[in-house]
Amino acid sequence: MKPSLPPDRPQFILLFLDGVGLGDRATDNPLAIPEHTPFLSQLLGSPLVRELSVRQPQVLAKPIDARLGIPGLPQSATGQTTLYTGMNAAKFRGHHQSGFANGSLRQLIEAHSLFRQVMQLGGTATLANLYSPAYFEAIAQRRIRYAVGTLVNLTAQLPFRMQSEYEQEQAIFWDITGELAAARGIITAPPISPAVAGQRLAALGGRHTFTLFECFLPDYAGHRQDWGAAIAVLQRVDQCVEKLVENLPTNVTLVITSDHGNVENLTTKRHTLNAVPLIAIGPNAQDFHPIHDLTGVATAIMQSLQSPALSSNNF
Ligand SMILES: [Zn+2]
Repeated sequence: MKPSLPPDRPQFILLFLDGVGLGDRATDNPLAIPEHTPFLSQLLGSPLVRELSVRQPQVLAKPIDARLGIPGLPQSATGQTTLYTGMNAAKFRGHHQSGFANGSLRQLIEAHSLFRQVMQLGGTATLANLYSPAYFEAIAQRRIRYAVGTLVNLTAQLPFRMQSEYEQEQAIFWDITGELAAARGIITAPPISPAVAGQRLAALGGRHTFTLFECFLPDYAGHRQDWGAAIAVLQRVDQCVEKLVENLPTNVTLVITSDHGNVENLTTKRHTLNAVPLIAIGPNAQDFHPIHDLTGVATAIMQSLQSPALSSNNF
């Protein structure tokens, strides 16, 4: 047996949604229409707009700043690195860095990632996303570079979930349903429903101290300025989250957040300066109340894991 934290310790699932900001309560904001996210809108008493504010014992929701004190539009590589390390990667680089993580960001991730920190405490961390040999071939051929989440797993020297894990219902593709993975020939398995993906993620979250799942769909819809795609993505995420919450083990807190705004404003194909949502559902939801920007998420998770009194025991 590997050393591990006691089973009644807090555990966390981080559902990362790329490119989801909190915009105006306006009819041209796909996030402002409750029917696009019926489960979350009912749970939070509000659609995902800039006024979002919920503080209940097991549900917390608030806007957090994604600009990181650096001029210009927030970008993925620095935003994600900040979320996953607790270090301000945009300040570290001196600018917002888009897309993928290169040399110096990799060093930051290697030294400070949540995966590393959780494992140093004796906990387990896992990346729920499905990977493929084709992805690593493209990396080897320098056609693509590593994404931040990939580096979080790689630098922690953890295995990636591949087709065999997918067949055992222990992986989820970044589009949630696996439709894209099937279309690209990455998997031979049929697509799954968003609800099944949510159940799958809840089950994985129950087995690990910290589980990360990354969904990049909202950012794509935003860059394409595609209203129909935006609605479809939001409904897919909402259905996944509904089943995830229904099946959430009692000691697991689900955290949902993003790296920068995009899909909430389809009048531009660029990212936005908007704050992003921070939603925490579960026994440790209140631990996320003090957070004001992207730097606070990793820190709050680590503090919760290290706090001697388990808050879920106090309910
Ligand atoms: Zn983007």
